[in-house]
Amino acid sequence: MKPVVITAAVIMTIILNSCNQPKKEDSSSKPVEFKFLLEQFADLKIMRYQVPGFESLDLKQKELIYYLSQAAISGRDIIFDQNGRYNLAIRRTMENIYSTYSGDKSSEEWKNFVVYLKRIWFSNGIYHHYGSEKFLPSFSQDYFMELVKNTDQSKFPVRPGQSVDQLIAELIPFIFDPNVLPKKVNLETGTDLVKTSAVNFYDGLSEEEVEGFYKGMAQPNPQEPLSFGINSKLVKENGKLMEKVWKIGGMYSSAIEKIVFWLNKATEVAENEQQKQWLEELISYYQTGDLKTWDKYNVLWVSDHISNVDVVNGFIENYEDPLGRKATWESVVDFKDIEATKRAETISANAQWFEDHSPVDPGFRKKQVKGVSAKVITVAQLGGDCYPSTPIGINLPNADWIRKEHGSKSVTMENITYAYDQAALGNGMLEEFAFTAEEQELAKKYGSLASNVHTDLHECLGHGSGQLLPGTSSEALKNYQSTLEEARADLFALYFIMDPKMVQLGVIPSEGSAKAEYNAYIRNGLITQLCRIERGKNIEEAHMRNRQLIAKWCFEHGKESNVIEFVKKENKTFIRINDYNKLRELFGKLLAEIQRIKSEGDFHAGQKLVEDYGVRVDQQLHKEVLERFKKLNVAPYGGFINPTFTLIENDGKVKEVKIDYPIDYATQMMEYSTNYSFLPTWN
Ligand code: ZN
Repeated sequence: MKPVVITAAVIMTIILNSCNQPKKEDSSSKPVEFKFLLEQFADLKIMRYQVPGFESLDLKQKELIYYLSQAAISGRDIIFDQNGRYNLAIRRTMENIYSTYSGDKSSEEWKNFVVYLKRIWFSNGIYHHYGSEKFLPSFSQDYFMELVKNTDQSKFPVRPGQSVDQLIAELIPFIFDPNVLPKKVNLETGTDLVKTSAVNFYDGLSEEEVEGFYKGMAQPNPQEPLSFGINSKLVKENGKLMEKVWKIGGMYSSAIEKIVFWLNKATEVAENEQQKQWLEELISYYQTGDLKTWDKYNVLWVSDHISNVDVVNGFIENYEDPLGRKATWESVVDFKDIEATKRAETISANAQWFEDHSPVDPGFRKKQVKGVSAKVITVAQLGGDCYPSTPIGINLPNADWIRKEHGSKSVTMENITYAYDQAALGNGMLEEFAFTAEEQELAKKYGSLASNVHTDLHECLGHGSGQLLPGTSSEALKNYQSTLEEARADLFALYFIMDPKMVQLGVIPSEGSAKAEYNAYIRNGLITQLCRIERGKNIEEAHMRNRQLIAKWCFEHGKESNVIEFVKKENKTFIRINDYNKLRELFGKLLAEIQRIKSEGDFHAGQKLVEDYGVRVDQQLHKEVLERFKKLNVAPYGGFINPTFTLIENDGKVKEVKIDYPIDYATQMMEYSTNYSFLPTWN
């Protein structure tokens, strides 16, 4: 419900994009030797991203990024502990084996052991980062015992007074037993969500007790409600419920002290007074845990439109709490991509023109539309819940009253999407699923830009366009709301990306970009996104439903004049768009209808649209797509390792900040675990 940093759905978007259409800008202008895709294991791929423009920042800004990056890495242990109370113990046990096991390291079982540890690093714990289910080792318990025996006994993370045998006995059920706390976050209705979720936000409590505790807390000012519970673990001590607050002197203190140490350094090189102020407010919040200070910080942060360097650092998103209250720790360090931001600003500045020319009934248009202030950023460092699996966009803060009173920041992480695109190049998806060489060429030439412009239109204008009729509830569309809302924003983008206005404004170079986007969208909605669905299942996820809804509706409604066609080549199915202008008209028609549904709150029409076009999967085609996809051996989920920054000093003065791009995933993980691991194993 909350506007987000990163939703899983957003990540899904990028996965789908990279899975369905490797797109890129003309690669000849980029250093060709940079390796984006580093390795694949299980269902994961590890990539790197570049930080273009870092070298041309001034020295103070570089130094600022250095300190904020140190702060970002310093909180890594927190997210492990939040994701499950045995995660730190299991990680450290496995890392000890990884570093000091004296036996054979060439066997198949050893390789399986390493994959297990790599998955723990990726998920910040033993639960899948996306699906939330516990993943099990593909080596035996006997082999594990043999590893333990031949490993440095002095370095296992035992509790005070505990033997290594006792530690291993304690951990084994959590590692090997699929029935012991099988899910990180359980959302199944009819069960006790608190008791059945492995996340470490509550101890020994029932859902009812937790709800009761927070219901009993009164808001001092209902106009500006505090985010109760966001930064603490709720426990029962001596029969009484109490919060263990995450702050200096409280829970996670030893990691938070390091974060604050680096944030303090950052204030010394702040770009301006405003930035210094919100950094100081954030420090004060970490020192006190005070929720009023948290809000004050957010207000200052969201009002800063002048700083170039920016950071997200804190307990932010609540997706990992089944009750949606406790927030996981995360950090993203970035600076403004000034060129690309101009593009977003141009679109935003013309918001009224787009609204006035939208193909919806004039009564459903907004008379006065405000474009969301949006910027495009270059990410310099990822931390906590954003590492290594990262969002591609951020929209914060989460508190509704702050969004309403003070606005929100919406950012696109363009060097990350670029890295996704580059890493996907040559994975064979485009070659396998695009019908003609021409279609491939168009995708290679314009695909990356077109998809970024689509995102700009979708985010800056699409969601904000249109209005409800008086008396229509914003919740009228119930469980079809997200699918229809995403469809509406997508259709707004699809309709306008082909408008001559886009070339006029200089946002895209030619109509070729729009064609590339149409090809990619329809190809994905009708064919390639099926590679993400398990055999025999229908489509559940809102973004995927929306994409099929749009593509299928246009296919059906354009049948008579053959706008979109399914074609066969060597027994494989492809799509071909025969008339781009007619397709644009269809996008406009569907947009008008979905806007009507939203404006009037017509639940039944909305339900019918989604159920008729967005849900069901063609079994025959699905089977074919899965077979073709399997042959390509493309990992469906991805994440990134970070660049490394080094201070070059002379006579105690910073002379330069050097950036390096490490290439080995395990090396970075072990480095973080060795040098940035500040929490005790047993909190
Ligand atoms: Zn959206």
